[in-house]
Amino acid sequence: MKHKRGIDLRTDMAAPFAPARMREGSYDLWRPIGDLAQYEIIGGTCPTCDHVGWLDMAIVRRRVGAEMSLLHFQEKLVCRCGNRDGNRLMIGTLAR
Ligand SMILES: [Zn+2]
Repeated sequence: MKHKRGIDLRTDMAAPFAPARMREGSYDLWRPIGDLAQYEIIGGTCPTCDHVGWLDMAIVRRRVGAEMSLLHFQEKLVCRCGNRDGNRLMIGTLAR
């Protein structure tokens, strides 16, 4: 049986660059993914191992589309340690 796919913070969707600045996504969770600016990327941080992972937005948009809210996206985050619970969405700003 195929396992239901989460958004994996390991390597398959990793961003090519780390952002210049980052903030907690907690005030932005109402926004749809398509609402993010070109210079914003999303990532996640894990309460179990403190890993922070950043995602390639081209792959994110292709896989989940632009309509999904960041809140819904946050619930799908899976850390590289395997943790699925309590991962928090981060928003990074790329240097322009
Ligand atoms: Zn972790």
